[in-house]
Amino acid sequence: MSKPYQKPAADEPAWWFIVSAGELLLSPTDNRPPHGQLDQLPLPDLNDYKVVFIGELRERNCYLVMADFGDAEFAALGDFHSLREVLVQQDDDMFAMAARAKQIADYLQTHRFCGRCGARMQAVDWELAMHCHSCQHRCYPRISPCIIVAIRKGRKVLLARGKRHPEGLFSVLAGFVEAGETLEQTLAREVMEEAGIEIKNHRYVASQSWPFPHSLMIGYTAEWRSGELRLDPFELEQGDWFDIDQLPRIPLPGTIAYKLIMQLKAEIDQEK
Ligand SMILES: [Zn+2]
Repeated sequence: MSKPYQKPAADEPAWWFIVSAGELLLSPTDNRPPHGQLDQLPLPDLNDYKVVFIGELRERNCYLVMADFGDAEFAALGDFHSLREVLVQQDDDMFAMAARAKQIADYLQTHRFCGRCGARMQAVDWELAMHCHSCQHRCYPRISPCIIVAIRKGRKVLLARGKRHPEGLFSVLAGFVEAGETLEQTLAREVMEEAGIEIKNHRYVASQSWPFPHSLMIGYTAEWRSGELRLDPFELEQGDWFDIDQLPRIPLPGTIAYKLIMQLKAEIDQEK
């Protein structure tokens, strides 16, 4: 890994992930972050901004540029958008890098002062970390693991609508891993708390960075084992077992929730 604060060269073709208030600047022509050489783009003087090297995408370096809310200097390049638009419109690798950019911007903004002694923290120059020279406390970008699980019972899949979900949108169950838990314990606890049931045959499917604000979704499928459905009224407004061929509105392709539901559908279709 290269140093996080290496300066981009003026003639280096790169991706520019410009983040302001949790939103990402997207070019109006292709809904992607701006791409090209520093000396050929209408960018402001980057010496005025914090610029962080965040990795490579499609054989090009990627830089995070931290803009301030309301900064009009970047207006010639595009507008700021929620990452949810990148999620549904772009490939997985582009979304993953956008997620990384947003999370690092959030991390740098929220770790300017030491959580232990209150002194100002400084960026470490050889790794992505913030360090307190008063008490030697060091912080890394925070990632919060969550389990997400699609549960089937015969031909039916359990879908529920959380209080923050839009009207009519149903998804699979999810919850944060608590301190000291294994993923298996989180799965069992969350499903019991939110739906009042026990599961069996859980299988890992895939994971997805979920930068709202800094989660890592760890996706499983599982089967119902016992218990009557009893939804947690504090978390969920509605929910039921839905026939796999008569699903309500579910999360869009690109989300891990969609992928897990489709995984169950493929399994059920194979059994026909
Ligand atoms: Zn300190």
